[in-house]
Amino acid sequence: TYILGIESSCDDTAAAVIHNGVVLANVVATQKIHEEYGGVVPELASRAHQKNIVPVVSQALRRANIDKNQLSAIAFTRGPGLMGSLLVGTSFSKSLAMGLDIPLIAVNHMQAHILAHFIKAEDQTAPNFPFLALTISGGHTQIVKVTSYFEMEVIGQTIDDAVGEAFDKSAKILGLPYPGGPLIDTYAQQGNPKAFRFTKPKVKPMDFSFSGLKTAVLYFVEKQVDLNPDFISENIEDVCASLQHTIVEYLMDKLKNAVKATGIKEIAIGGGVSANSGIRKALKDAEQKYGWKTHIPNFEYCTDNAAMIAIVGELKYKQGIFNTQEIAANARMKL
Ligand code: ATP
Ligand code: FE
Repeated sequence: TYILGIESSCDDTAAAVIHNGVVLANVVATQKIHEEYGGVVPELASRAHQKNIVPVVSQALRRANIDKNQLSAIAFTRGPGLMGSLLVGTSFSKSLAMGLDIPLIAVNHMQAHILAHFIKAEDQTAPNFPFLALTISGGHTQIVKVTSYFEMEVIGQTIDDAVGEAFDKSAKILGLPYPGGPLIDTYAQQGNPKAFRFTKPKVKPMDFSFSGLKTAVLYFVEKQVDLNPDFISENIEDVCASLQHTIVEYLMDKLKNAVKATGIKEIAIGGGVSANSGIRKALKDAEQKYGWKTHIPNFEYCTDNAAMIAIVGELKYKQGIFNTQEIAANARMKL
């Protein structure tokens, strides 16, 4: 079986082909246009998807070295995400499935970030059920108890901003371009994580809050710049290292609480922020330190990609879980 996956929930247009769990092609067109606005502009994202979707899908089929007539099914991101962006992928997928007369499979983007672990790849191990998934991305921060492929329960989540937003908004305060998360990570690796202190917000044991952290960074930077106009350029590495250290410690605290509450010691991370070097290292160390079994996805399956959509498509295909042409995009789709 060859499954085509299509992802268009935010600002990346992506297509991938999967065959028996192995990725044959994984193409992502990242939209540059949003950089100059310091964040994703929904109308521009939707237009860029319309421009990119045909070339991206064609390229994925070319790289996989298959013809569209060999496809077994089309899997697409139904939600959550930006409505205008989701509509492009959804309508394209519906027409293609209808034209080829093959099954159509709707996929939840957050479920895909978790099930990306089931892609067969070097350096990647599939978790055993039940496991805990920490999904950390631009729009979500959740701890999910995963009992089987399609049985997932959110047991903790952010009450305000997502962790990716905390990275991106802090980066903006530091004058870094969008998306700033990866840049904070790069600077953090050169800095002293104990140079500055940021307090960790207090909420319920398995919940998260990040809006206070962003404000703390803002006040801290404003105050320091008042004293020394060159503060940011002179201390960017230490500020980033300290901030990242605080965030990673906070995520690990929450995971520890979840392990305690559920007795489950097998952990998988997913979502764009799982590309972060600090959380990857902390999770790796936790194997020795706490006796957990941890799973860290390959970089290309962390941030938005279509391979994760295709693997969910394949898992559903095997169980005969299909959708009809009636299916509509759902911007606020829940797990
Ligand atoms: P969602 O999946 O919740 O719908 P999204 O699809 O917009 O949100 P992802 O692509 O999964 O988000 O993740 C993007 C986020 O990941 C951005 O906030 C980005 O800054 C962050 N990110 C990517 N790499 C890193 C890194 N190395 N360190 C920290 N943050 C990172
Ligand atoms: Fe995502």
